[in-house]
Amino acid sequence: VISKLPQTGTTIFTTMSALANEHGAINLSQGFPDFECSPGLVELVNKAMRDGHNQYAPMAGLPALREQIALKTEKLYGGVYNPDTEITVTAGATQAIFTAISAVIHPNDEVIMFEPAYDCYAPAIKLMGGVVKSLELEPPNYRIAWDMVKRLINNKTKMIILNSPHNPTATILTKEDIGELSALIKNQDILILSDEVYEHLVFDGQEHQSMARYPELQQRSFIVSSFGKTFHATGWKMGYCLAPAYLMQEFRKIHQFLVFSVNTPLQHAIAEYLKDENTYLSLPGFFQEKRDYFRKGMENSRFTLLPCAGSYFQSATYEAITNEKDSDFAIRLTREIGVAAIPVSAFYRASTERRVLRFCFAKMQETIDKAVERLLTV
Ligand code: PMP
Ligand code: GLN
Repeated sequence: VISKLPQTGTTIFTTMSALANEHGAINLSQGFPDFECSPGLVELVNKAMRDGHNQYAPMAGLPALREQIALKTEKLYGGVYNPDTEITVTAGATQAIFTAISAVIHPNDEVIMFEPAYDCYAPAIKLMGGVVKSLELEPPNYRIAWDMVKRLINNKTKMIILNSPHNPTATILTKEDIGELSALIKNQDILILSDEVYEHLVFDGQEHQSMARYPELQQRSFIVSSFGKTFHATGWKMGYCLAPAYLMQEFRKIHQFLVFSVNTPLQHAIAEYLKDENTYLSLPGFFQEKRDYFRKGMENSRFTLLPCAGSYFQSATYEAITNEKDSDFAIRLTREIGVAAIPVSAFYRASTERRVLRFCFAKMQETIDKAVERLLTV
């Protein structure tokens, strides 16, 4: 066959987790918790199954779940979404992202994104015949220079992809960023795909800048989130998309043929679980403690930790240790030290050498202790 994605290999998460398993290394690479999700939530899933909720859910998602998502969104961000026409439950954020991109990107449409970028955006754009226009951001602060974004905009620009809190850099969009963005696209026909899977993982008392806070932005945005991230259950592959009706209508045309609908008992369980707002309001504190614990442990290491404002990732540079490329160093660390991390160069399309590693701290204290102990020997 003629490959549709000739430049695409196997995702770095699969590669690094496999290497970690092969060498019995502590896996701080792929982002997932090594602790259990809430037993109460598991019990709700069991109950939904016992109660016979085992057949197809409605195509757009269970009404009770969409209702809870609408309530949560309005409560947290003020944005109002009609559960009937503006919310769809998806098989994780990945499916939502793919579906949103396929719904609106035509051949030769240009999509602006920021690198390092989560790795599922570019392949989806390319499959639709779209053109990726990326702006590379630089450590330590990875700030977006909006005047540079302006230079990328032309009459083919169809979409800007945002991700806050950001994977892998752990930065968050600020109010100032939102002001710049709003001014930039004011009279332009540009959509936004806002990847907000870490919406509840914002630290130090900062506010998550959801597109759902800003009516002019909300009007042109697909917002994507993930229950896998929120409820420590990445294996469930449950998420959702919010969008104004004119966009959601196109989204569902694809969703119905990509998956039709998603896991019914999980939807029942999550709808019930979301009624207690503490299930997500407790997350910033919970993960901030883990961030601080990991950072404190690494204080005397020879890694240089970059700022971490949100997400469950901590990036680090390592010029005091070695001159190796991050892709080589990540492999060596896994094999020789027994700690796996993600080389941040995997999140750039250009093969420029990068020297930044990303560690996932969504781990039990003893896992962090063991990993830090090993990392201190490097
Ligand atoms: N976007 C970002 C930024 C992510 O880190 C991830 C990984 N969870 C996803 C999307 C995909 O989420 P899901 O596992 O719900 O498909
Ligand atoms: N989002 C997770 C990460 O950044 C991985 C998800 C995946 O493996 N596709 O590590």
